[in-house]
Amino acid sequence: MPTQRAFRIHNDDTGYRAGVETIDVPEPAAGEVLLRIDYASVNYKDALGGTGKGKVIKRFPLTGGIDAAGVVERSEHADFAPGDAVVATGHGMAFDHDGGYAEHLCVPGDWLVKLPDGLDTRTTMLLGTAGFTAALAVHRLLRNDQRPEMGPILVTGASGGVGAIAIAILAKLCFEVAAVSGKPQLQPWLKELGAAQILGRNELPGGDRPLEKAVWGGAVDNVGGDMLGQITRTVAPYGNIASIGLAGGTDLHTTVMPFILRGVGLLGCESVHIAQPLRGELWQHLATDWRVDEPERLLGAEITLDALPEVFERMLAGGTHGRILVKPT
Ligand code: NDP
Repeated sequence: MPTQRAFRIHNDDTGYRAGVETIDVPEPAAGEVLLRIDYASVNYKDALGGTGKGKVIKRFPLTGGIDAAGVVERSEHADFAPGDAVVATGHGMAFDHDGGYAEHLCVPGDWLVKLPDGLDTRTTMLLGTAGFTAALAVHRLLRNDQRPEMGPILVTGASGGVGAIAIAILAKLCFEVAAVSGKPQLQPWLKELGAAQILGRNELPGGDRPLEKAVWGGAVDNVGGDMLGQITRTVAPYGNIASIGLAGGTDLHTTVMPFILRGVGLLGCESVHIAQPLRGELWQHLATDWRVDEPERLLGAEITLDALPEVFERMLAGGTHGRILVKPT
């Protein structure tokens, strides 16, 4: 039986622990596809699951990694053949099924998307779940009639994976982007990506009245908590807030006033269970009209499986930026 290196997460009588182990390469069953993984990546959820600081894994032990891109080696699914370049994000990956932190991945073919022309496996993982979710947020905003003339779009958690890619896509679509970041040293990078203005985390305008002066056309929020509450009070009539993340907290304190007096839309973004046609559509956008120019600019670091624990801790402390690529071999 061929073997591979994989980053395994355990939670049993001896406690929560994770690290690189040697395990068997799985055999694809009917409907499944076996890939050789070129790249996986580190997302905030991977850091929560890899450290045990968030309850995001249902079945133990398993291989971590909520996304991966690679090439099909064996297929028991009619839609895929050896040599196809594919991406897997969400579904059960690193939840109740092995994920991308290994040399191989065996998943139902129904979870895979073939890479559109213009995306190779490296660029695809420079985007990864973060880019896919940023694209979902943009899709939700546009579907709800967000337009550039409504005012600047605020992007919070701007130096993170989702934030950086949301800035690049929105700027490409001619929205003025205001970035909120706790990393002043990254201002030149955020401007290069497309941010027109940058605010510190404590510099959001407005007080704590139910409605404050409307300054933002809309927002892409990766932070949640007090920051999201503040944004609801300061978005212009019929502007939209795409709610993605919880890096700053899970509570939301606001009133109904922004929604019933300004028609503000609070749009939930959930990237795990999206129907397959929309998945394909979003990756197609990422390869074409929403393509991030010079995607290597998104790279925060490229690491091996062995470096994952240190990166997880740094990410949860807000100390990483951009996208972290994982090269399993
Ligand atoms: P990253 O860690 O790459 O980015 C998060 C960013 O948030 C940091 O870079 C930092 O940016 C900011 N931040 C971190 N801690 C705090 C804090 N305490 N207060 C305010 N800002 C903070 O994560 P991702 O980009 O991968 O994910 C962003 C969020 O979106 C996460 O909460 C993640 O769980 C969520 N997510 C949700 C998805 C969904 O399907 N709904 C899919 C993907 C991600 P800066 O220093 O610039 O302020």
